[in-house]
Amino acid sequence: MSNKPENLTLITDDGLRLDGRRADEIRPMKIEIGVLSRADGSCYLEWGRNKILVGVFGPREAHPRRSQRADAAVIRYRYNMASFSVEDRARPGPSRRSIEISKVSREAFEPVIMAELFPKTAIDIFVEVLQADAGTRTAAINASSIALADAGIPMKGLITSCAFGKVDGQIVLDLNKEEDNYGEADFPVAMTQDGEITLIQMDGHLTPEEIKKGLELVKKGCKEILEIQQAVLRKKFETPVEEISEETAEVEKEGEKEEPESVPEAVVVEEALEETEEPGAEISEESVESAVLASEVIPDFEEELEEEVEEEFETEEEEFEEEAFEEEAKPEEDLEEDLEEDLEEDLGEELEEEEFEEEALEDEAEFEASFEAAPELKEFDEIEARLEREAASREAEEEIGLETEEISGEEISEEAEVEETIVSEKPVEPETEVEPEVETEGVSTEAVETEEEPEEEPEEEKSEGPWKVVKDPSEAGTRGEKDE
Ligand code: UDP
Repeated sequence: MSNKPENLTLITDDGLRLDGRRADEIRPMKIEIGVLSRADGSCYLEWGRNKILVGVFGPREAHPRRSQRADAAVIRYRYNMASFSVEDRARPGPSRRSIEISKVSREAFEPVIMAELFPKTAIDIFVEVLQADAGTRTAAINASSIALADAGIPMKGLITSCAFGKVDGQIVLDLNKEEDNYGEADFPVAMTQDGEITLIQMDGHLTPEEIKKGLELVKKGCKEILEIQQAVLRKKFETPVEEISEETAEVEKEGEKEEPESVPEAVVVEEALEETEEPGAEISEESVESAVLASEVIPDFEEELEEEVEEEFETEEEEFEEEAFEEEAKPEEDLEEDLEEDLEEDLGEELEEEEFEEEALEDEAEFEASFEAAPELKEFDEIEARLEREAASREAEEEIGLETEEISGEEISEEAEVEETIVSEKPVEPETEVEPEVETEGVSTEAVETEEEPEEEPEEEKSEGPWKVVKDPSEAGTRGEKDE
């Protein structure tokens, strides 16, 4: 929508538009089906000056695999505008506009395509706009609908699309380029055969009444388009059925005639056998006997085996050649997909390895848990924990000792002496406790008994002594105060 030149009239006083149409008329439409031999379904559509080519592929295995849906086919729609399709060269590659059109067009088809019939597959719709003259998304949807039907994709019905707009204050159907450029609104719509709307967009400003009026026009336009679509599809799928049956009948008749003329393989084999029998008559009786014996002794399966081996080799060679050919023939995109697949597989292997490692860790944890469950071993752990605690407290004490040394040499020296004595005592106690346990692999009842002895309690208290001194900030503070 851009500013209209003042002298430009889009609708004449007679109610005719620049291309001679009335407000409620669509542009002339021309459709061809099956124009692409490599696509499963295709359509070439001309609508006014729009020229659209659509290729449908699938249902086929979706790649990359992560894009697959377990319960349905993935529908992919790619709208692309050829750089030469518009007056000012369109920038090649996807744009914001083309991504948006692809999305809304795909969604327009989702309600009718029976995707649930083809899980893990993809249905690809490729749209190429060869020439654009406004209304390319609606034209592409109409062409795609036919291409999908041509591909034999099960659908609940066809999708038909048409736009209405506001030009020179009037609601008109199916805008052309000038009307799109200088009009006041553009309103593309897509709908099912039953009139259910699957796409609705608006560019510009319209009142509710105008929208109501426009939708009525669109319904009329879509009905006309549907009739064209159906007629084209009928032409393609109705007539060939009779032609095919006639053709096949002719082929069958020809086959009947030809068969007696052609020499069957069995006859060739019989003739070959007769030839070999003739020289055999000259061979001596002994050699015949030995030959008979040999044929009896050496079972037939040797020959069969040889044949099978040969066949196997041949088929393997053929398969290999085919694969090599396919690899060569693959376009870059496919090779990229293959590469992606390989990477995914590698990733999968890595993930498997990770899973294996995780399992190993879990096993380890279980193994450790089983140890924790054993009460004797729990006590061993407790001793270990206590030793750790004590070691930590020693370290902390040492640190504080160093700090206080700086403050007061005398007192600290006294304290250090006391601490030293405590520290020197500490490692002795746990060592005596741990050693027997370690030796007996932590299951000795003796070790447990020694642990449970009440004599140990005061020792534990002793070991807690320095811990308290270190941890208690008030005491540390008093020491500092005393120093002062
Ligand atoms: N157009 C253009 N250059 C672009 C995009 C669009 O010239 O990069 C023209 C083209 O003729 C198109 C028209 O503008 O048909 C209207 O574009 P719109 O975005 O409304 O989509 P459409 O009506 O084609 O669905």
